[in-house]
Amino acid sequence: MARDISVITGWLEPLEDCFREIEALPVAEWPVIHQIKEKFAEPLIRYSGGSGAARGAIELYLAKCKTRCQVCGAVAEPRIIEGWHALLCDAHEALATRAGMVALEKTWLGGEDTAE
Ligand SMILES: [Zn+2]
Repeated sequence: MARDISVITGWLEPLEDCFREIEALPVAEWPVIHQIKEKFAEPLIRYSGGSGAARGAIELYLAKCKTRCQVCGAVAEPRIIEGWHALLCDAHEALATRAGMVALEKTWLGGEDTAE
């Protein structure tokens, strides 16, 4: 579906729900997904086309992620860890270091983070 996917573990479940919803639509309604990534602790999907239902599934995914810990998916708040923007639950904030956040990015699924 997309060539460039970098999904943080805590945001994988809502992304799977999103894809399941889109894949249940007729193929003609599917958007072209160019990139899925995180930027400044927010999920980002670059896509074109797609029906209203497909775009709605993507918007729902983005909304769900905005309150989920990037690591575990628990309820989270925006944090700044040594200058690094993160969306973390209390438990993961307590454990977080900048080096840990960099390592987390490297554990994303998919390819390299190629944009900006
Ligand atoms: Zn967490």
